[in-house]
Amino acid sequence: MPGWECAIVGCGSTFETVEALLAHQVTDHTDHECEVCGEPVPEGYFAIKHGLEEHTRAEYVRFYDGDAAAIREREGVLEAVGDALDPGVLEDLLSDERADALDTTDPTPVTTS
Ligand SMILES: [Zn+2]
Ligand SMILES: [Zn+2]
Repeated sequence: MPGWECAIVGCGSTFETVEALLAHQVTDHTDHECEVCGEPVPEGYFAIKHGLEEHTRAEYVRFYDGDAAAIREREGVLEAVGDALDPGVLEDLLSDERADALDTTDPTPVTTS
């Protein structure tokens, strides 16, 4: 197990558990302002989850200057993290206030058509 690496540009910290990684992204990184709707979301996993679940792929590609390959890569991240994540463990690592604001539900299944 190589552990979980923070994929945020310039970071690269590694963590033993996915919950520790997400707690790090929420507390140690500044919030990302969604380029589509302007809502502040934690950088990293939650920013990807927000971008792909709250907005259409077309919007995501347009605002984030991505392409199909970039979207597939991010969908892969969502799936891997969503599979490994125990939201209860993550909430224990975060302050109540912060945990309440997060959407830790399972990512919606990826549909490819
Ligand atoms: Zn980081
Ligand atoms: Zn948004």
